[in-house]
Amino acid sequence: MRFYCPRCWQDFDKDLSRCPYCGLDIHGFWKSKDYVEKLIVALNHPEPETPIRAAWLLGELKDPRAVEPLIRLIKYTEDVYIAQAAVEALGKFETPESLHFLDTLVHHPVKMVRDTVLQILASRNRHRPSTEKGKENV
Ligand SMILES: [Zn+2]
Repeated sequence: MRFYCPRCWQDFDKDLSRCPYCGLDIHGFWKSKDYVEKLIVALNHPEPETPIRAAWLLGELKDPRAVEPLIRLIKYTEDVYIAQAAVEALGKFETPESLHFLDTLVHHPVKMVRDTVLQILASRNRHRPSTEKGKENV
């Protein structure tokens, strides 16, 4: 098992309390973060499974603090699987920021990302008539 510094992402084979590279108090750092903040930090983890899992969890939690970090991740990651996971997660949020950003991705250069965005937008449009029908019944 590898351990990582959450600031400079150097890895160690031991659970160090202080990063020998950047001097971060690693244990204190994690203690100061709540669950959502930890997941947001994990979005930058160098092992790709970790950001993918963190993105998924953030999408489930729908904490609005995750919107901006997810957008940043989609913009800057070079890993299409991470980008796709972040897009899927962002699709679960309904903030003006998240909706606007998803609209800008319909011309994303990576087909996988584009397809995911189109799926999200399509399912959102499918849901709209049913809510209107629901209102008629009220
Ligand atoms: Zn460090």
